[in-house]
Amino acid sequence: MNSEYEVVVGLEIHTELCTRRKAFCGCPNNFRVPPNTNICPTCLGLPGALPVLNPEMLEFALRACLALHTRINQRCHFDRKHYFYPDLPKAYQISQKYRQIGVEGFITIETDDGSEKQVRISDVHMEEDTGTLAHAEAYVRKGTSTVNYNRCGVPLLEIVSHPDMRSIAEVSSYMHRMRDLLDFLAVSDCRMEEGSIRYEASVSLRPFGQEEYGTRVEIKNLGSFRSVEQALEAEIHRQKRILASGTPLRQETVLFDENLKETRPMRSKESSSDYRYFPEPDLPPIVISDELLNEVKRTMPPLRDTVMKTMIEDHSLTPYAAEVLTASRALADYYRDAIRAGGKEMAVPVANWLQNTVLGFLNETGVEIAACPVSAQELADLVRKVEEKKITANAAKTCMRESLSGKGPLKDLLESQGEAVSDDTQLMQWVGDVMAENPDKVEAYRGGRTNLIQFFVGQVMRLSKGRAQAQKVKELLERELGG
Ligand code: ZN
Ligand code: MN
Repeated sequence: MNSEYEVVVGLEIHTELCTRRKAFCGCPNNFRVPPNTNICPTCLGLPGALPVLNPEMLEFALRACLALHTRINQRCHFDRKHYFYPDLPKAYQISQKYRQIGVEGFITIETDDGSEKQVRISDVHMEEDTGTLAHAEAYVRKGTSTVNYNRCGVPLLEIVSHPDMRSIAEVSSYMHRMRDLLDFLAVSDCRMEEGSIRYEASVSLRPFGQEEYGTRVEIKNLGSFRSVEQALEAEIHRQKRILASGTPLRQETVLFDENLKETRPMRSKESSSDYRYFPEPDLPPIVISDELLNEVKRTMPPLRDTVMKTMIEDHSLTPYAAEVLTASRALADYYRDAIRAGGKEMAVPVANWLQNTVLGFLNETGVEIAACPVSAQELADLVRKVEEKKITANAAKTCMRESLSGKGPLKDLLESQGEAVSDDTQLMQWVGDVMAENPDKVEAYRGGRTNLIQFFVGQVMRLSKGRAQAQKVKELLERELGG
């Protein structure tokens, strides 16, 4: 049954842009504050209030268009999309319908067999977000709903693909690559759990070899990679079942029920004429000068591929390490800052420390790298001290863990730990003490049980409170015990 039909998927992505202010007014672009506090006459659509385009939104949109290789319409404009919903006080959304900022680009994704292919982007356009409704929150009286307008006017970028994906795995690769792109461009904070990227998928099936597309169903309101994948799985299954029974599919819009893992009809699809689009009369047409375009090109942040390449070629990291350290832009930036502070010769040891100690801690505690209690500079200093054998790796690790858990600044913890001891007189003192305390083990060692060396090293390390150089201790012990 699986081989009868080819899956055809297109994806629309809405991403909130992390500009400082909203799209068309001076309100801070932060809706995670008490309800209805980040609002003004403009984003509420009160009579007489006029929108003004935030230049930062334009710049962010241009970055995305450039990274997605679209043609850029240096003259474009906004349009009104009319519909009524309580979270949309103006009863229209400012969007781009007739002349979007970017058209016809592509993004490269990985296919099921590991090769790469291009998925065409039909357009990239700017629009504004709506408010939110609250039904179940503690402050809402049972049986009622309240509306919060904080999110009204938050800048959105909508990226629409052609129906070029042929499997759920391809869709997954598309979503990951797109998230990386938006993250490394620094245009979105990509917090899926807070809804900063949302998806709509259109799915159809057709017999293999058939040119013409089958009837398309749109799945709305998907908030995570997982829900997109699960919704597609359910919808593909449903369509196959209907087609197998000989019934024609209806073109419609469906919602995905996360609990039941099934899609159900929402409404038959409006045609775009239902929205009564027309050019937004309150905003002048957008004119993108060559100067602006060149400036945006000149200041484009490097994408993930480029950052990985630098790590591998300039910093001698393994492809695996480069992949781990570019899992997010914040992490890649942290690494870059540590290398800037510590010098290029620290590139490999800093990468190791970051992967083995810092990321381990962050994963365990769920703390984000941006909130890491140890700064990039502090990490670089610590690694340098270890490399120069001023402290032992063990002591450094202990201090690092303590500082990460909030027990104080790394510098203070390192000072209280004391410098590494490599002075022979002091080390010999500890070696002598340990041998005197364990005459039976000394005898056993000399009788051939040389693996007891680990026991002796451990005892000396304990006496030194971790400050002794383990290698040096081992050498001294071998010399003393051998005689
Ligand atoms: Zn406002
Ligand atoms: Mn939209």
